[in-house]
Amino acid sequence: TGTKPDISREKSAELYEKAKNYFPGGVNSPVRAFKSVYGTPLFIQKGDGCYVWDADGNQFIDFCASWGPLILGHNHPKVREKVTEVMQNGMSFGAPTALENELAELIIKNNRFVEKIRFTSSGTEAVMSAIRLARGYTGKDKILKFEGCYHGHSDSLLVKAGSGLVTFGETSSKGVPKSFAEETIVIPLNDEHAITAAFAQFKDQIAAVIIEGIPANNGLLMQEKSFVKFLEQTCKDNSALLIFDEVITGFRIGFEGAAAYYDVKPDIVTYGKIIGGGLPVGMYGASAEIMGHISPDGGVYQAGTLSGNPVAMAAGIAQLTELLRNGFYKELNAKTKEFAESIQRFASARSYKLKVFHVGSIFWFAFTDKDKIQTAEDIDVASMDKFKQFHRELLNRGIYIGPSGYEVGFVSAAHTKIELEKAKRAILDALDIVFRN
Ligand code: PMP
Repeated sequence: TGTKPDISREKSAELYEKAKNYFPGGVNSPVRAFKSVYGTPLFIQKGDGCYVWDADGNQFIDFCASWGPLILGHNHPKVREKVTEVMQNGMSFGAPTALENELAELIIKNNRFVEKIRFTSSGTEAVMSAIRLARGYTGKDKILKFEGCYHGHSDSLLVKAGSGLVTFGETSSKGVPKSFAEETIVIPLNDEHAITAAFAQFKDQIAAVIIEGIPANNGLLMQEKSFVKFLEQTCKDNSALLIFDEVITGFRIGFEGAAAYYDVKPDIVTYGKIIGGGLPVGMYGASAEIMGHISPDGGVYQAGTLSGNPVAMAAGIAQLTELLRNGFYKELNAKTKEFAESIQRFASARSYKLKVFHVGSIFWFAFTDKDKIQTAEDIDVASMDKFKQFHRELLNRGIYIGPSGYEVGFVSAAHTKIELEKAKRAILDALDIVFRN
């Protein structure tokens, strides 16, 4: 095998030039702009099962899956049919519908971690609301987050670590007031001492600790169970709420997400993506007691014109019904494990500096020889050059993954063994090119 010629991006490039007139960077969300990989972004025309096609007619096996929600694959007939059926009756009322009850019931009856919930229209909203709820409930202001976790783009969460073990956040975006960032404390992942130090330094001021169920926005940073348990206990000891942000992991690594995986009981959980089946939905939930603080029952305000939108609810109902089928996760997770491990075996046999980290149906290619990567600092920034080349070689071989080396990939139920085998061969060929010298 040798380097393949670049796929044609003529139509995509044309669309991108046009898009630049309309949107900053030509996109409606920054990572789509292909800034850290080769070439212009691909404009996607359609998706079906595990495949997507771009505007130039190139076909790809897709492991981005709209960044996670499409656990059944693209355009799943059950989801499409339900959405189409519900749409015949209109698309938004701003009034309650039976569909909200139906989706809520599917979630609450099959999930130990939430007794009452609120639907929102995005993950960002869900997390932002969960933070407000934690503050309203505890009467405290500060929140503790971890370096390397992403929780959407609300002001108090666009905060990164300064220097030092426990730091006041520094804003990671212009436009976030310093005074807001100062309500957010940032510490490294997988470091029990940092948790203890933060609670000592900010005694009785921390309303909540927020962590991604399994951090998956800055590589896949698997945490030790003992660390997560320690976090849970420390929150209890200090009357701070533990918020599990399961926007990626919820309904992905299992129906009950990372909370079940680590066997912890978060006080508030946020979900997104998957429960909308590809339509815009987010959600947060907690015990009935904590949720009783949300308006109109309680004094914490949170609302949304399109919250619980019937069409989005329909997609969620159809998708979650499939996920509840016996053996769904077992099969999907086993498939992913075999896929990831066989790539790892190949890379290890050739002494390539590559680790394929994986959990459930999530995987991440790290160009490293470290056996564990558990904090943002563990990631070798220079290795992203290798990712850039890898990404280009993959696209040229019909494999679509997220256009950044910090992003994880997703296997869906629509990826059959045949396609996974095909993808694996392409990945191995791409690795040979990347490591050829
Ligand atoms: N939390 C986590 C853990 C996420 O991964 C994301 C987005 N990927 C968000 C929150 C924000 O969700 P959204 O993009 O739907 O606003």
